[in-house]
Amino acid sequence: MYEPKPNPRKEYRKQESRQVEDSPTLAQAFRDLKSLTVDLAYFSPGRFARDSQIKYTVNLANAKSRFRFSCPNEKCVGGDFDLSTALAKAVAARQTSLTGEVTCQGWRCQTDIGQMRCHHILRYKLSAEYAQDNPSAEQGQTAENEGNGGSEHDEPSRLEVVNVCQEIT
Ligand SMILES: [Zn+2]
Repeated sequence: MYEPKPNPRKEYRKQESRQVEDSPTLAQAFRDLKSLTVDLAYFSPGRFARDSQIKYTVNLANAKSRFRFSCPNEKCVGGDFDLSTALAKAVAARQTSLTGEVTCQGWRCQTDIGQMRCHHILRYKLSAEYAQDNPSAEQGQTAENEGNGGSEHDEPSRLEVVNVCQEIT
């Protein structure tokens, strides 16, 4: 096996997975998050029927907070779906349910770079559960401690946004 030309798709993927690797796990980034379920549906551009759907419970100890999903288009260059920001916002607001849609901004294939966007679509639904603020076991104690210096809390919402397409073009 040999590769005569540089492969932007592979390069991009490699770079992406390095960034994912370097990010903290969801459990580290979002201490209050107790459980997270994702429901993902993928659509090809211009089609109304979904191509595939997947639903699972995320393993918070393993999954990374650079929370991204691969584009179903096998030839896509520089795309994929990044839900890091959406997730961080939802967690910061303690939202238990979040739905949305992202369009892949990668290129449709290697020969279409600079010309034709991928535009596959991911519709997602995230369901989250959070740690209780005031566990009934320790009545009254916890509320006071947390009340005052609120600003020193970790702010998990500060994840960087990857500007996926611009790096590639
Ligand atoms: Zn794509």
